[in-house]
Amino acid sequence: MSATDIAYQQCILPACGATFDLGQALFACPKCGALLDVRYDWDRCDVPKSLRVFDERRGRSNTTRLGRLDASGVWRFRELLPFAQPDELVTLGEGRTILANATHLAKEIGHEPDKLFLQYEGFNPSGSFKDNGMAAAFTMARKLGKRRVACASTGNTSASLAMFARHTTLADGTTMEGIVFVGGDKIAFGKLAQALDYGARTIQVRGDFDACMSLVKQSTERLGLYLMNSVNPFRLEGQKTIMYRVLEGLGWEVPDWIVVPGGNLGNSSAFGKAFMELHALGLIDRIPRIAIINATGANTLHELVNEHGLAFHGGDIDHDKVTAYLKEMDEQGRRAHTVASAIEIGRPVNLDKALRTLEITNGIVRQASDEEILDGKALVGKHGYGCEPASGASVAGLRKLKAEGVIGSEERVVCILTGHALKDPNVTVDYHTGKKPDASYDNPPVAADADIESIAALLGE
Ligand SMILES: *Cc1c(COP(=O)(O)O)cnc(C)c1O
Ligand SMILES: [Zn+2]
Repeated sequence: MSATDIAYQQCILPACGATFDLGQALFACPKCGALLDVRYDWDRCDVPKSLRVFDERRGRSNTTRLGRLDASGVWRFRELLPFAQPDELVTLGEGRTILANATHLAKEIGHEPDKLFLQYEGFNPSGSFKDNGMAAAFTMARKLGKRRVACASTGNTSASLAMFARHTTLADGTTMEGIVFVGGDKIAFGKLAQALDYGARTIQVRGDFDACMSLVKQSTERLGLYLMNSVNPFRLEGQKTIMYRVLEGLGWEVPDWIVVPGGNLGNSSAFGKAFMELHALGLIDRIPRIAIINATGANTLHELVNEHGLAFHGGDIDHDKVTAYLKEMDEQGRRAHTVASAIEIGRPVNLDKALRTLEITNGIVRQASDEEILDGKALVGKHGYGCEPASGASVAGLRKLKAEGVIGSEERVVCILTGHALKDPNVTVDYHTGKKPDASYDNPPVAADADIESIAALLGE
């Protein structure tokens, strides 16, 4: 690979703007330490004239190699993330997700019918949106000749990494080795089960997610592991495609709002980049607003943006504010704490990119309490989709923004459901069986004697 490649890496801060070729495995700018983007020389890429060209690919037979790529909800859009050749792409059927028109949920929360949609990423092979990112990151890992990949995880990243490692065949016929660092006792069982079952080396660290993140970064430097967390800019290239599928589901019309839970802020970052690029390429004529929803117990972005006035300012970010905030958090011994374990993160690694998304999309940040998140999740379940706790933050955030009058009932809104309902069944059962006193939509089981008279007494008219 050389600097004449049509794809390269670039520091996101314009004041630095250093560029690097794809052959360097980088997770931060070597010059200034900022995050990196994957960039393209679009004039030399085969960019479609209209997004409608992708329609033709959807129904194609997947018995051929290209057919399988078209069946992938990531690689169907390969011209919009052209950092590898078609024969290099890793796929296992990721991104075959749907945009659901949530008419009953809309009615229940007082939204106009046909204006509320749920982008259900739980339909991915490992049950969360992370698969979109892994398809891209594993493609890059193999292209770089890596044999071992690692991540720190609240659960879904490790499940997805473990699965993709088994599907990524190397030149010598073996598969990639997956190594996952999980924080002590916080991981949801559905997710841990996956990492163990797919044979990933699973290291249970006595510490929280932020501690795992710091450890895995040190291990990648010292032990040459390839890092698969969302600081890996290729992960975010894969996650851009979630927005392409949202547009696809709307017949290529742009919605008014995207509402997304915010943890490490990888999705928020990827979505902003997707719209920035589509707009610059003339493939969409306007950009939707993005609302990022933190959990109240893990609300670093909310605090920095809404309480401390932090903003992207064209890349001139006041990093002293961030440093001071995180220092105070440490000094006070404050740790992220929420029932939504997938967003229980105090030091979001993609903070600067998320600030850029807020600037590009005229976006906003809100926080939702655990009670609000669980009620949001229960509403999604009640109307037949289901999701894990973190995903419930998007519906909780929407309800809040509607109550504030920020989002109008007639506006077209897409809530992102990031993970599958079965990832964290303990939380769901606790909610419905009276272990959460504030539950508003609980559906407790009813006990009955084993005879037909008792059943008739319960169910008879
Ligand atoms: C990883 C994850 C999140 C957090 O996403 P970020 O991109 O890190 O903000 C939210 N929900 C689920 C289910 C996840 O797995
Ligand atoms: Zn830089």
